[in-house]
Amino acid sequence: MSTTGPNQNCDRNRLSIHSMPCLRCGTCCSKFDVRVSMDEAHRITDRIGITWDEWMNSYINDRWPGTESFILRRHNGKCIFLKEKGEQSLCSIHSFKPSLCIEWNQGPQHKECQQGLQKRWGIVVDNSGTLNGTQQALHCYRAFLKSLEGD
Ligand code: SF4
Repeated sequence: MSTTGPNQNCDRNRLSIHSMPCLRCGTCCSKFDVRVSMDEAHRITDRIGITWDEWMNSYINDRWPGTESFILRRHNGKCIFLKEKGEQSLCSIHSFKPSLCIEWNQGPQHKECQQGLQKRWGIVVDNSGTLNGTQQALHCYRAFLKSLEGD
């Protein structure tokens, strides 16, 4: 997921943004069924070093026929490739994740991103796309953005 920086136009309890990076909250990876093409499936199995049988038995949703494409399996309600690291939820196949995941364009307009902001920092997005929260919450959010620099 691509990352872009926030607009610096902010006051004490509001932060106006045009875009935002992936929050690493895992919300979208917990909500959507991800369809994977046959080519993508072969690429993933090659990169993570598993056999085709392992892929078929452990990584895909067996309710999907899987003749031309697959649906990634969920584990504990989340994509099987989503891993928790501290407060963050990270894609363990980020550099070769499926095209559907690449095309997901995070931003304050998505309810999943709004839920991530609310869950992690208690920040609410209003109708104009402005982030509203306590001074401390917005400070923590800015600290998170800073921590992504150089990623
Ligand atoms: S493949 Fe990665 S980005 Fe896509 S849903 Fe799974 S964890 Fe999320």
